[in-house]
Amino acid sequence: MSSFRALGLAAPILQALDEEGYKTPTPIQAGAIPHLLKGKDLLGLAQTGTGKTAAFALPILHYLLETPRKATPRGARVLVLAPTRELVAQIGDNFAAYARHMKFSYAVIFGGVGQNRQVEAMKRGVDVLIAAPGRLLDLVGQGHIDLSTPEIVVLDEADRMLDMGFVHDIRKIVARLPEKRQTLLFSATMPASIRDLAHSLLHEPETVQVTPESSTVDRIRQAVLFVDSAQKKEALMMLVNNDRVVRAVVFTLMKHEANKVAEYLSKHGIPAAAIHGNKSQGARERAMQGFRDGSVRVLVATDIAARGIDVDEVSHVFNYDLPNVPEAYVHRIGRTARAGREGWAVSLCEAEQRAWLKEIEKRISKAVPVITDHPYHSDDAQNSTLPPPVLGGGRGRGGRGRGGPSGGGRGRSPRAASTRPSSSGRGGAGRSRGRRSS
Ligand code: AMP
Repeated sequence: MSSFRALGLAAPILQALDEEGYKTPTPIQAGAIPHLLKGKDLLGLAQTGTGKTAAFALPILHYLLETPRKATPRGARVLVLAPTRELVAQIGDNFAAYARHMKFSYAVIFGGVGQNRQVEAMKRGVDVLIAAPGRLLDLVGQGHIDLSTPEIVVLDEADRMLDMGFVHDIRKIVARLPEKRQTLLFSATMPASIRDLAHSLLHEPETVQVTPESSTVDRIRQAVLFVDSAQKKEALMMLVNNDRVVRAVVFTLMKHEANKVAEYLSKHGIPAAAIHGNKSQGARERAMQGFRDGSVRVLVATDIAARGIDVDEVSHVFNYDLPNVPEAYVHRIGRTARAGREGWAVSLCEAEQRAWLKEIEKRISKAVPVITDHPYHSDDAQNSTLPPPVLGGGRGRGGRGRGGPSGGGRGRSPRAASTRPSSSGRGGAGRSRGRRSS
């Protein structure tokens, strides 16, 4: 399926997607949307960064447009469960962005902030309620939310919800939902516990999987170089300055860092370009074109921007920064060794990111070989026991304040005011455009 239009989505949604700059559906979107529009249950195996939020949000909005109905007080027509406050807020932002040309109301619910605004937001009922399980059950227990109304239920990042110990909460929530409903479950991994959960919640589901094939990952030769943070650029230069590096993608966490790294490499004679969300479409396209035709040897990208890189001959992936989400590592390194080729994935790891490497090694079930005979190798970084950095929220996904909204949104016009939450964590309500980092 090559376009959102061909998928059959309604005009107000297509217009919003156009404004978002989405040109073609991602694989999870192309795979999931047709099933969801038919009302089927779905098991989606996809990690963050694949476009999975839109994969469920778009057909849900289409359904709301097709079957307009008033939400009942304290009820929601659609319930989305997600593990963390950040993810709940992000999903809310995405819904609001895609629904900007339609009548639409939503609320976001999570713990760690006062409940009053959330209760208030649910009084009249909403089209879509996005909630973390714990606080949701709290409010249900207090009689502020009625779970007997959702027509569609989504469990997002189900594996993470189970990891975080939400299984009983989820069961309690599900027990209160109507039997007749459409259910979607998204998970990055498929352990037995998820298989069981899917089996008990989904009715004759379709399965759509977009995680990289493990055979591809197995073909990638991985290595890590422990470095001092002050020497990362020099270390990267040395790694890239090798004839075997034909085409490389370098990942950074931050947009400004992507710029700095690309500038540094260019200054030292290595043709490089950065791509991220602050670059214009034209600049991104020029960088991609240069990367394809070989005039740009190194593309420096943030995770989200890298989604658009579909070049087969990437010989190397360098993680200038490690990702804090282990799945993102698998996704990043899957940029190389495509189409049966071999590929290298070399990560720089500074002391602060040491803890993330351990998580990654758990995820890929093996230790990443360490390069020790290198001038920039740092024992200190290798032996670091520092806790991982506390991120100012939305890292790699846009500079979200850590507060996140605690209330809901009842946007009635495309330009309705948005009281974007501040980092005070007091929350706000409204239609807010999701900010994106790349
Ligand atoms: P997600 O996997 O839902 O976290 O989405 C990752 C990022 O990809 C988000 O910033 C989305 O805005 C963006 N995105 C989702 N679908 C598309 C698309 N079809 N084209 C371009 N960007 C997209």
